[in-house]
Formats: sequence, C-alpha cells, structure tokens
Amino acid sequence: MRTPFVVGNWKLNKTIAEALVNVTELKNQLGAVKGVDIGVAPPFTAIHSVAKRLEGSSIAVCAQDAFWETSGAWTGALSASMLHDAGATWVIVGHSERRQHFGDTNESVGKKARAVISSGVGAIVCVGETLAERDAGRTLSVIDAQLDGGLAEVPDSNHLVIAYEPVWAIGTGRTATPAQAQEVHAHIRSRVAVRYGADRAAAIRILYGGSVKPSNTAELMAQPDIDGALVGGASLEAADFVAIVKAARPS
Ligand code: PEP
Repeated sequence: MRTPFVVGNWKLNKTIAEALVNVTELKNQLGAVKGVDIGVAPPFTAIHSVAKRLEGSSIAVCAQDAFWETSGAWTGALSASMLHDAGATWVIVGHSERRQHFGDTNESVGKKARAVISSGVGAIVCVGETLAERDAGRTLSVIDAQLDGGLAEVPDSNHLVIAYEPVWAIGTGRTATPAQAQEVHAHIRSRVAVRYGADRAAAIRILYGGSVKPSNTAELMAQPDIDGALVGGASLEAADFVAIVKAARPS
C-alpha cells in the first residue's frame, strides 16, 4: 500500500510573507487530514520560514532544485545538505523547466539525485516528454532515457519518488487523460523493477504532474499506478491545494 504524496511546486512565486499566509492556511486546513503525505516547495528564500511555521504539522518542505556538489567555489549554488539545514526534507530534481531553461540534462539530473539521496534528503525525480516527442511516438523511449540518466547514480532508496510530468501538460491547462498517465506510470514502475527489483517497484511512489486541479485529481488518483501529484499553478491558492489533497485521499 503506497501512501499518496501531493506536493505543491510554487516555482518563482511568493515572498516570505505570502508564503507564510499560504502555509498557515494549509496547516489549519490539512492538519487533521489522514492517509496522504503533503509537501510544499516554496522558493529557496522562504524555505526556512515556511519550515518553522510548519513545525508540529506533517506537511513537508521541499526545495525546487539542488546542486550536486556539497561545498566549494560554485557561485549561486545550493547543496542538498544546506537545504536540509534550512528545513527541506525533499528536493525536486529534473523539473522540465530546469531542463528547458537552466541546462539540466539526464546526466546532471542523475548527479543531483544522487547528491540529494546521499544527503539523507528525499529526491523527487521528474521525467516527461514534449508534445513533439509524444506525437512522434517517442514517449516511452524519452522516459527511458530520462530514467536511465536520472537514476544512473542513485542507489536503491525509500527516499526516492518519481514524478511523471508530460511537458505539454505543464501550465497549459491540458491534462493527460487518466489512461495516458496510467500507461506511462505503469511503464515507469516496470523500469524501476528492472533497476531496483520488484519490492522497490511495488513501494515507490510515482506522482503525476501537469495541470492537476481539484476537478481532475480524483480520476487521476483512481489509476492503479498514480500515487499522488506534483501540482504547479493550482498549489498557489491554498483553497485549491487543500481540495486537491482531499481528493487524493484513498477512498
Ligand atoms: C509543475 O510545474 O510541476 C506543474 C505540474 O505545473 P502545473 O500544475 O501548473 O501544470
């Protein structure tokens, strides 16, 4: 039995004050919700304040990226252990926006994921195809290459989560159908079985991301291999995120 995991990725949004308003609302409204793990990924600047505000709740704080080195002359970079020190217990790596705009590759995602896991922090490794790749029938081969690179240096770990986020569904309002998502999730689970064995494949959580909203969460979560959601836009409003978390609870 996999506990669903719902994570809000705030991207480049919210001042510290705005972040605190949001998570205070989440703490109040989700404090009693059982059966689902919850995380929020504020911008780096708000991680520490948000973690302090969420003390005493089970809502986890996530970072949106981390560099693979642990210290040294890497201007602008943050290590997973620094993010952990600030209060993050999960790090998202390989988000398509990092791949598209900041030069992340399958290889660098693998280095980041390994660094995150070896710092004792959880890694949420993102994969997903573009529309052109899907239209060319290349979805599963793209996912395979992203998993091969992204997990190449990652040891078997219960701190590993995978997020399937079709690029064409991110921020577009266009969600993968439950059947489209399920097909890729089942494929990812089979690849995890090859890499880490059947027990890890059965236990690992595979999140769906791409225009998740309160109205489409339940039908996505009803798929056997969808174990939660990585939510962008709809996580910025506390009320919408609360509704998504509640819809993701097992029935
Ligand atoms: C994301 O950025 O991870 C994401 C899924 O965004 P959105 O929900 O806005 O499509």
